[in-house]
Amino acid sequence: AHIKPLKVADTACPLNAADPDRLPVMETFYSLQGEGFHQGKAAFFIRLAGCDVGCVWCDVKESWMAEGYPVLSATEIAHQAALHPARMAIITGGEPTLYDLRALCQALHQQGFRVHLETSGAHELVGDFDWICLSPKKFKSPLKSVCQQAHELKVVIYHRSDFAWAETHARQVTPACKLYLQPEWSRRERMTPLIIDYIQQHPQWELSLQLHKYVQIP
Ligand code: SF4
Repeated sequence: AHIKPLKVADTACPLNAADPDRLPVMETFYSLQGEGFHQGKAAFFIRLAGCDVGCVWCDVKESWMAEGYPVLSATEIAHQAALHPARMAIITGGEPTLYDLRALCQALHQQGFRVHLETSGAHELVGDFDWICLSPKKFKSPLKSVCQQAHELKVVIYHRSDFAWAETHARQVTPACKLYLQPEWSRRERMTPLIIDYIQQHPQWELSLQLHKYVQIP
């Protein structure tokens, strides 16, 4: 069934303002980071439920509505994470910046984790992050403030016109920000050769593949 994304005005965020310690968790899992700068490293993933962006090609549409998922405390989530040996935690979604993430970051830091965030940049960041991956989406432009904080910019290429769109975002991040182009999974056979050619001509960019999908892990 088609699921409509949350209709949330930017001013309504964070959604957990009344109780910032509690967050709706769609799933957690221990795997390898398959994308971008930290690709290949073991990490504990925390997928929060709720997204108001609405990407047509979203592969986790079941994350769009927060209702029905367990609401966990930051401490509970961090204890789950600490059961595994790696000390990299990746907060993803959905769109995790719908929430105040300070309590979760603090609980993870207390367990010795480096805290990474995956975001479309649609909302202001509320939390203390060690690594911010900005993956902008056409359906809701990233905030300039988030562009300025990003450690890596990861642009999903769905169509050849997306290269120009990627460049507009590359102009908004800092010079230290790493730049990645990643083929949209369902179009990878068509887009990957175009990306390789583009990177050869524009070597400030690097290729990001969804390695976890190639090796069939979560
Ligand atoms: Fe899906 Fe992420 Fe887009 Fe939200 S921002 S619709 S979770 S791809």
